Formats: sequence, C-alpha cells, structure tokens
Amino acid sequence: MSEYRRDPLTGRWVIVAEERAARPHQFDIETNADDSYREHCPFCEGNESLTPGEVDAIRPPGSRADGPGWAVRVVPNRYPAVHRDPRFPDNHSFQSRYGNVLDVDTPLAMFEKPFYQPLPGTGAHEVLVDTPRHILSLTDMNDEEVKNVFRMYKRRLSAISKEKRFAHAMIFKNVGAAAGASLPHSHSQLLAMPFLPPPIQRELHRAIAFRRETDLCYWCEHLKHELKNKLRIVDESDHFVVLCPYVSRFPGEVAVFPKRHVSHYETLQQHHTDELGKLVRHTITLLEKLAVWIKGRLAYNIVLKSGPFVYNGPLDQRDMLDTAVWLQKLDYSFEKVYHFHVSILPSLAKAAGFEWGCGLHINPISPETAAQRLRDAAQSV
Ligand SMILES: [Zn+2]
Ligand SMILES: [Zn+2]
Repeated sequence: MSEYRRDPLTGRWVIVAEERAARPHQFDIETNADDSYREHCPFCEGNESLTPGEVDAIRPPGSRADGPGWAVRVVPNRYPAVHRDPRFPDNHSFQSRYGNVLDVDTPLAMFEKPFYQPLPGTGAHEVLVDTPRHILSLTDMNDEEVKNVFRMYKRRLSAISKEKRFAHAMIFKNVGAAAGASLPHSHSQLLAMPFLPPPIQRELHRAIAFRRETDLCYWCEHLKHELKNKLRIVDESDHFVVLCPYVSRFPGEVAVFPKRHVSHYETLQQHHTDELGKLVRHTITLLEKLAVWIKGRLAYNIVLKSGPFVYNGPLDQRDMLDTAVWLQKLDYSFEKVYHFHVSILPSLAKAAGFEWGCGLHINPISPETAAQRLRDAAQSV
C-alpha cells in the first residue's frame, strides 16, 4: 500500500509507492569519459581563453590569471541567468524598489498592474570549474581535488555575502545530461539573488515558528530523532550525518547535515569542508552502487543550501526582510534558526505530468529501503 508523506517544515508532499518500482531501462545512461584534454571544452586546462576572465582561482603563487596551472577556476557564466546590476549596488536598494512585488502577502488590489510585474534579473551567476581534468563526476576526483572544490564553495559564498547586494546564494552541481548538465566537464555553479527563493523563505518561516514554540532548532531536533531511530541513516563522519529524508521526492535522495548546529556553510573551518567533501563523494559512490543497473554513469544534482545573507545587511520592511525584522524583534538571527545542508538528488526518476500538475512527487523507492540499500552498498565496498 502506498502512502502520502508530508514534510512538516516545507509543507511538501510525496507519494511513496514502492509497487511502482522504477523500470531500469527507462533510466538515462551517461557515457564514461576519460580525463584527457578536449580541444573544444571550455573548462579544460589550456582553453582558458574560451571562458570569460576568472573572478577567483586556486592556483600556485606566481601563475598567471586566465592561464594554465590552476586547481579550481571561477568564471562568470557565459550565458548567465541573472546579472550584477549597477542600479542595485546593495540589497536595500532592490528591496525598497520591489519590496511589494516580492511580498507574497501584498494584496493584489495594491498592484498597478496585477498580472505582470517584471523585476530586473539582477544577481550573480558564476561557474566553478572543479578541476582542470576532463572528468564527469565528484567520484572521479582525488582527495586533493574534492578538498579544493569544497574550499572554493566556502570562498565564493564568503565573497558574495560581503557584496551585501544579495539575500542568498545557492551552490549547485549538475552531473550528466539527465541532471541538466549542458557540459560534461565537472563544474559547479553559484547563483545569487537579491531576495530569498520561496522554498528557503518557507523553511525559514517555519523554522522560526518552531523556534518560537520550543526554543530549539528544527533541524537539530529532527537530526536527534533520526540518529536515535537510525532507520534512514546512511552514514556518519565525526561532524556530519548522511540520511535519506523521510519525505524523499526521488529514489535515493540523500541529505547531508552538520551534526552540530551550523547555519552558514561559509563559517565552516577548512578541515570541516574537507571532511564534508569526502563524505559527499563517498555517498555518491554508494549511490552509483545502488544504481548498478545503469550502464554508464549516474547523473545527479548536488544542492548546497546555506543560510541567508541578509542577517548582516540593511533591513527593510518587506518580504524576507520582514523575516529579518521579525527575527530582530525576537532577538533571533539567521545563525540561530537556519541549519545548512547539502542535498544529493540522483536522476533516477523524472518529474512528469502528475508532478508538474500537482506538485507531489511519486517515489518508487521508500527512503527506508534506499537507506538500507546504501548501507548494504557500503558493506560491500
Ligand atoms: Zn574539459
Ligand atoms: Zn540546528
């Protein structure tokens, strides 16, 4: 018998329906790649001139920007979804201009043009080229490469937060065409916006409400329960835990949380980002084993959800800044109420008509089954 599950934090629903077990032959297949130089790949070492100029890089002292020799290279996206807009030098200027549009509770009658309210696409969109080698996945990387990737995530979040023109930045990684990657060479992306994406806003509001009622962090409490119950725990390291969320949308969906309360990834110490990188890579190795039926490579997405930046920015009365004002009144801060986490979403099932129409995902492998299989896969390493 299938069941409905509702995430109390986000309000998200899924249908866990194991009898619909996904059919292997429908899954996307990725071809293997060797790591040799590709003449037309803009991310291969030696092809630096094929991208916009770098904004950051891990490279040995003395090596020339936009030349070879780098370990991780960050460049603006050549086809950016959003742009840094000189009209909005800080978050306050954007919020005060568009606050009423951003506020979901603004009565429709207050809009001059209630049907169309375009906002300029201001933001930052960066590409982090994970490695100079032409490889596909985190699981192709050596220890040093993984460390550098997770160190650069911290460096970019830190730099972007200091610009004070963005409310939030998401770091994500698409591996394989089935997961939305347009180029095979392993890379990550950062997208920063002047307002909070609605799912983060929803999570925050609910987490604040929980904190108000209990004086506790929602995620810390949730983890305490999961660690005791162990049903959905996949793996642990000293400071992090890997689990299959109770309300998993996709087969093999995994989340990685810091065990102790940490709101912002960029505040982690380097040995912690190193530890997290290693654990994430190991988890993807397990997912690849879980998906043994895939001929080729597992496609997946990684999403790093860190706390909002506005806690250190100017305050206004609108949208998520209402949240900031609310927090201030309660003597809370985003550091207290948000708990950063990393989601790993293997592309083993596609969203289709029902998902798009109803917003519910049908998951053919329960998170309890997935966690068990991933633990078994770890045993067989
Ligand atoms: Zn390449
Ligand atoms: Zn917490």
